Amino acid sequence: MCVPVNPLRVISDLKELRALTGDTKGAQRLAWSAVWLEAREWFQGKLKGLPAEHHYDAAGSSWTTLRGESERALLLGSHLDSVPNGGWLDGCLGVLAGLEVLRSAAEDFHGSPPVTIRLVDWADEEGARFGRSLFGSSAFAGSHTIEADRGRTDRDGVRLEDALRSCEIDVERIGDAGAERKNAAAYLELHIEQGPVLEARGLPLGVVLGTKGVERHAITFHGQEAHSGSTPMAVRRDALAAAAKLALEIRPIARKHSDAVATMGSVKTFPGIVTAVVGRCETTLDMRDLDAGVLAEMLAEARAASERFAKEEGCSVEWSRIWSIEPIPFDSRLIGFCEEAVRETAGVAHRLPSGPLHDAAEVARAGIPTVMMFTQSLGGLSHNKAEDTKVEDLTLAVEAFERLARKTMRWVGDGVAS
Ligand SMILES: [Zn+2]
Repeated sequence: MCVPVNPLRVISDLKELRALTGDTKGAQRLAWSAVWLEAREWFQGKLKGLPAEHHYDAAGSSWTTLRGESERALLLGSHLDSVPNGGWLDGCLGVLAGLEVLRSAAEDFHGSPPVTIRLVDWADEEGARFGRSLFGSSAFAGSHTIEADRGRTDRDGVRLEDALRSCEIDVERIGDAGAERKNAAAYLELHIEQGPVLEARGLPLGVVLGTKGVERHAITFHGQEAHSGSTPMAVRRDALAAAAKLALEIRPIARKHSDAVATMGSVKTFPGIVTAVVGRCETTLDMRDLDAGVLAEMLAEARAASERFAKEEGCSVEWSRIWSIEPIPFDSRLIGFCEEAVRETAGVAHRLPSGPLHDAAEVARAGIPTVMMFTQSLGGLSHNKAEDTKVEDLTLAVEAFERLARKTMRWVGDGVAS
């Protein structure tokens, strides 16, 4: 007989953390700050009495290990850090639900489960201070490049390297965090959805298929600056007109695919005055989908459309890639377990991709079978104080996550994952 998890304990832990590390504007657990360190100390206090070991890795991620009969390890994790004025659930729900699973397994198996269970609180998931997200998980995965990051500064001019040092992290040794990959057989992460899909369907929980790939580009249209009074309409080379056509065209391009999104988030016009035809228009485009083929097709269509519109308006167009990442699909076997766990807990299991990136994406990239579970976000809101989830949904989330962990433990124990 399995010792049940206590979702109310998770909710009470979350409230305790909110009271300790938040103010009237929201959560203030900015990575590498005093409040964040306080949150981590509080977390360590929660481990008292558990038969678990704790250490920080070379990149500052926090590891709590409950040794099992086998060294093969089930990893559970998320992040305690928040954006400034953040919500009370983003990241810490996953860490504290993971802690509850660990507590229940410790009790159930009298301190020694069949496989090792490790709970990780990744360092600096948000990247809110230095603009480098997924810090701890990418160091773990081996995809971290120090050279590109060490010179980064925060708003006050503090260098990342110095902020790390104040938290006893040596920037030269971040890569040593890769040692934590040893014996890792699976990774599970519970997170709030941070979007409106589950709420719109009236569902408490969702099965995450993977994180969407991203194509992010700067697109500049070049026309001819001209006087707004003296230049007849027929001879204008209006760069904004071409950009505006593209802004409308990306909608049907994305709508052909059920989960694809495309956003033109920035438009700058030059000279940008009321009496001149726009000679240059700088825009950005962000496209996302879980399928690499779909993403490539959308990108090709957007490019072709931009060239067509440029020609129609007597302009030229130039593209440059700002950033891109490939889609990261999660493990099909674990997606199946997650679906079972969600169905057994909530009746219906809806599969959806994640638009935002998560630490889970880095773990999956490292070749460790990974899956995420989402719980509904009220109003789809996150990264602000209004972020919330119904208590009944949080309760179901903790129960379903426990079920997923038990199924995965059995799988890891059977040695199927290798
Ligand atoms: Zn998060």
